[in-house]
Amino acid sequence: MSFINTTLHPSVSKAITEQGYSKATPIQQQAIPATLERRDVLGCAQTGTGKTAAFLIPILQMLLEDNYPQRRPCIKALILAPTRELALQIAENTQSLSAHTTIKHVVLFGGVSQQPQIDKLRAGVDILIATPGRLKDLMNQGHVALNQVKYLVLDEADRMLDMGFIHDIKQIIRHIPADRQTLFFSATMPTEILKLTHALLRNPVRIEVTPVATAAEQVTQYVYFSEKQQKPSLLLNLLGNQASETVIVFTKMKHVADKLSRFLNKEGISAAAIHGNKSQLQRQTALERFKHRQTRVLVATDIAARGIDVDKLSHVINYDLPQTAETYVHRIGRTGRAGAAGTAISICSREEKPMLIEIQKLIKKTITVASIPGYSQKN
Ligand code: AMP
Repeated sequence: MSFINTTLHPSVSKAITEQGYSKATPIQQQAIPATLERRDVLGCAQTGTGKTAAFLIPILQMLLEDNYPQRRPCIKALILAPTRELALQIAENTQSLSAHTTIKHVVLFGGVSQQPQIDKLRAGVDILIATPGRLKDLMNQGHVALNQVKYLVLDEADRMLDMGFIHDIKQIIRHIPADRQTLFFSATMPTEILKLTHALLRNPVRIEVTPVATAAEQVTQYVYFSEKQQKPSLLLNLLGNQASETVIVFTKMKHVADKLSRFLNKEGISAAAIHGNKSQLQRQTALERFKHRQTRVLVATDIAARGIDVDKLSHVINYDLPQTAETYVHRIGRTGRAGAAGTAISICSREEKPMLIEIQKLIKKTITVASIPGYSQKN
C-alpha cells in the first residue's frame, strides 16, 4: 500500500517508510497534493495531526524536482515557528525525512550563542527553520539572505501572534520574493490571523482537519475537585493509582513547576520541570530523558510544552486549569496523538470552577467527575 496517491521521489518515500508512516494522515492527504500543485495552503490544524510532515514532504519533493544548477546551496525554503522546541522538532523531522537526499537544513533560535548558527549558515543551507526573533537579528547583521526563498511556511501562526511575533514576521516576509509559495498553519483562526492570511496567501487551498473545539476526541477526560492546598497530595495519589507511564503535568506558574518537580522526586517519582526560565540545555536534557523514559513525569508550563513530541504519552494532568479554554484543548492534545488513546485529568479548585465551565462550553461536553476518598471540596 502506498503512503499517498501521489508519486514521491524514492529518497523521500524511503524516509517515510523508515519513519513507520504507512498511511498519510488526513491533513497530509489534503496538503501534500495541493502543495505539489504549487498552490498556497491555509491549514487549520493543531499539533498531533501530522502537519509537520504535511508541509515537509512536498517541500522536499519540490526541492528535489527544482534541482536548478548552483554552486552552493542557498535558502530556498524558510519555515518559521514560534518556539525553539517546535523549531527543533521540525528540524528533527526534516533530518529524518531528508536523510537520503543532499538537502541541507539549519535551525535558528534564540537563547544560545549566535556564532555556531552563523558558521552553519555560511556552510550553505537549503531549508532554514527559525524562530522570528533570532532570524531577524541575524538578518539585520547581514548573515541571512532570503532573496532566493521559493517556499515559506508559517507554523502555529496563532501562537506567534500570542507571543508578539507578528511585527517581526511581517518584517521578515518583506525580504522574501513575492513570487513564492506560502503554507500557513494555525490551530485557531482569530481575526488578526485571518487578516494576515489575506495579506500573505494567494487563493489558498483551505484545509481544516481537527477544529480546536472537537480536537482530541479520543482523549478520555476526568476532573477531580479539590481544595487548593490538597492539590500536591492528590497529584501524588493520582500518579500512584493510574496506569500512567509517561505523564505531562501542566502548571500555570514556573515556580510551581519547579516546586512540584522537587516534591515528586522527594516522594520517589522521577520528575523534571521545563519552563521559560530554564536554559536551552536544561530543557533539551529534560526532554531527552523524558523521551527515553528515564523520567516519568514532565512538569511544564504552557509555552515550554509547545512542540513537545513524545510518542505514547499516556496522561496529561492539569495541576492548574489554564488561563484560556483553548489552551486546555492544546494541552490535552499532547496525549491521544496520531490516533492513540490517552487520558487527561484536571484538578480543579473552587477558584477554577468558572474556567471549567468555559472549557466545557468550548469542547461542548461535560467532563466526567471522578474522586478519591479524602479529597473533595468542603462546602
Ligand atoms: P505533528 O502534528 O507534525 O506534530 O505530528 C504528530 C506525530 O505524528 C509525530 O510524532 C509524527 O512523527 C507522527 N506522524 C506524522 N505523520 C504520520 C503518519 N502519516 N503516520 C503516523 N504517524 C505520523
